[in-house]
Amino acid sequence: MKILIKNGHIIDPANKVDEMLDILVSDGKIAKLGKPGSLSADNAQVIDAAGRLVVPGLIDMHVHLREPGFEYKETIATGTAAAKAGGFTSICCMPNTNPVNDNRSITEFILSQARDAAARVYPIGAITKGSKGEELAEMGELHAAGCFAVSDDGKPVMNASMMRRALEYSKIFDMLIISHCEDSSLSGTGVMNEGVVSTALGLRGIPRAAEDVMTARDISLAELTGGRLHIAHVSTAGSVRMIRDAKARGVKVTAETCPHYFTLTDEAVRGYNTMAKMNPPLRTADDVAAIKQGLKDGTIDAIVTDHAPHGMDEKSGEFDYAPFGIVGLETSLGLTLKLVNDGILTLSDLVTRMSTAPARILKSNGGTLSAAAVADITIIDPNLEWTVDASQFKSKSKNTPFNGWKLKGKAVQTMVGGRL
Ligand SMILES: [Zn+2]
Ligand SMILES: [Zn+2]
Repeated sequence: MKILIKNGHIIDPANKVDEMLDILVSDGKIAKLGKPGSLSADNAQVIDAAGRLVVPGLIDMHVHLREPGFEYKETIATGTAAAKAGGFTSICCMPNTNPVNDNRSITEFILSQARDAAARVYPIGAITKGSKGEELAEMGELHAAGCFAVSDDGKPVMNASMMRRALEYSKIFDMLIISHCEDSSLSGTGVMNEGVVSTALGLRGIPRAAEDVMTARDISLAELTGGRLHIAHVSTAGSVRMIRDAKARGVKVTAETCPHYFTLTDEAVRGYNTMAKMNPPLRTADDVAAIKQGLKDGTIDAIVTDHAPHGMDEKSGEFDYAPFGIVGLETSLGLTLKLVNDGILTLSDLVTRMSTAPARILKSNGGTLSAAAVADITIIDPNLEWTVDASQFKSKSKNTPFNGWKLKGKAVQTMVGGRL
C-alpha cells in the first residue's frame, strides 16, 4: 500500500525541513521525500495537500482515557477517535483509572484494547501502588509491560523521600517521572485560583505557591538523583521561572502546559462556570504571559491537553462539587494555531511543542518525517475557519469551556502508520 502526499508544506523541525515537498509512504513507513512532482506515483493513492501543512503526527503526552473503570466518561476507542479527529497520532494515557495502572495486567489490558484503536496509545504507569503515595509500584514490571513513563497524576506524590526513590529507580529503566506538582497541604479544599476572582465569588482558593513549592522540590530531587523529571501542566509564572533556571543549570527537567493555561484566566470562572474548573486552576494574566514566553523560548517543551472527560451531569452541578478537568483533544490544535496567528509561536515551534519534543522526551516512535520513520502524519488546513461544537465531538464527554469558539486551522487528515 503506497500513498503519495503531493504539494504540501512540510514542516519537520527534527530535520530542519520547512518547505514544499512530496512524501511517499510505503508499508506504513515514510519511503521518500522529494521536490514537488519528482516522486513516481505508480500504484499509489494520491493525496493533494496543496495549501495544507504536512507535519509529523501530533503526540499528546497527557490524556485521561478513563478505561478501565469509568467507561461512561470515555473509552480507549472513543478517546483515540477524538485524538485522531484532533490530529493526534499518539497519546499517553494517565494511570488514574479503576483499577489504577500500577501493574503489568492493567498495562497489558490497555495495550490490547488499543491494538485496533484510531491512534497509538502509550500507557503511563503509576509511581506508587494505587497512586496512594504509600509504596512504590513495580517500575521494572511496568517498564517491561510497555510503559515509558510513570506518574501519580491527579494526585501529587506528597512524600519527598518517595519521590526521591522513584527518581533513583527510574534511572535503571530510563523511565520518565511525570510530576503533578501540587502541595495538597496548600491546595487543601480549594476549587479555583486564589486571588481577586475567588474572593469576589466566595470560592476557596488554591494559591500559585501550591504548584511552585512542588516544582521547586522536584527540581531539587531531579538534581540530587539525576533522574528524568517532567513537570505536568505548568500553570504559574513561578514554575516557568524555576524550570528555566533549572534547565540553564543542566538539570534533566522538561515541562508541558495545556492550551487552557495560555488561553484563559481565572476570569473564566465568573458566573460559577464549572467548565473553567480544572486542576491546576486557571491563573492570572501574568501567568498566561509567562507561559507564552516559556513556550516561545523553549522552557516549556510540550503542549498537551490533560484531556479529562466527565459526564455533563457531573460537570453541571454546584461549582464546589463539580469534578476538575476539561476535554481537549479536539480543540488543542486550533487553540495552539491561535498562538501562531497571534505571532507568538512559529509553525515550526508549534510542531516542535506538539510532536517533535514529546517524541524526544518519551523516546517514542514518531515526531519526525525522516525516511524510514513510521508514517505518522498530520495534514492541517491552516486557513479552515470552524466553530467548536461540543455536540459533534468524537469524545464521549463534552465538557469544554471552548464550545462556540471560532477557531482558524484544523487537522483534515491523520495518518497512523500509513493508515488514514
Ligand atoms: Zn495532574
Ligand atoms: Zn491529568
